[in-house]
Amino acid sequence: MDLAGFSVAGIETCIEAPALRLLLDLGRCSKSAVNQPLALLSHGHLDHMGAIAQHAARRALLHLGESVYIVPRAVAPQVEAFFNAAGALDGQTIPRRVVPLAPGESFSLGKGRTVRPFETFHRVPSQGYTVWQERRRLLPEFRQVDSSELGALRRKGVVIEQSFEVPLLSFTGDTRVEVLERHAELQQTETLVIEASFLDGRVSVSDAREMGHIHLDELLERESLLTRGEVVLTHFSARYDADAVRRVLSERVPDSLQARLRLLAHGAARGL
Ligand SMILES: [Zn+2]
Ligand SMILES: [Zn+2]
Repeated sequence: MDLAGFSVAGIETCIEAPALRLLLDLGRCSKSAVNQPLALLSHGHLDHMGAIAQHAARRALLHLGESVYIVPRAVAPQVEAFFNAAGALDGQTIPRRVVPLAPGESFSLGKGRTVRPFETFHRVPSQGYTVWQERRRLLPEFRQVDSSELGALRRKGVVIEQSFEVPLLSFTGDTRVEVLERHAELQQTETLVIEASFLDGRVSVSDAREMGHIHLDELLERESLLTRGEVVLTHFSARYDADAVRRVLSERVPDSLQARLRLLAHGAARGL
């Protein structure tokens, strides 16, 4: 899936998924982010959520339609208060729709797509999201039947198909690594966007865990739990510049994983 945007730990995170017309977090509102009508917000840290009012106000100014913000249920009142305070400063009511959503609940994106949050493990209330796509397949008893006969059955009103869902995109936001063990969908999703804040011995695994983040050592130990689809690493600490990220990952990540790995820090998600 095409993904682009920005994600540097503690500074800014906003990832665009244009095919789904949504944003993953909104800590900075770029010119192109304004075109996406919906944001999935993982937690309240300002580098992940600080630009929501700017996004909604700019979309209203440009008459781009409704702006929807899906947030952890626990922080919805503060998000509304944040919009209200920003609106008071700006001298207007900022039009927006805030949707509180908790794990176990779902929100329809249309086109057979549904978003569902999953629990994550950070320093403040937080959650990740998976976008599920509904697909249809023939019931087993009709799989050998030829197409003209299937057409006739359909016209008679016989139910010949069943629907099922596949996880298209999962986004962890900021979290400790146990998110991988807890949620099987992260092992099956077509595109997994997962944070990897710390990449080498400059920060220890225990310090990374203390801060509520993932260390590359922990991901490498869990390679078998990572999706067989594509893995997009993001949210690198600002101590690693773009060259350092590439160098460390090419040295440390085994070829088997490198083949399906992309990185997103600034701009489009790209291979190593
Ligand atoms: Zn962060
Ligand atoms: Zn955070």
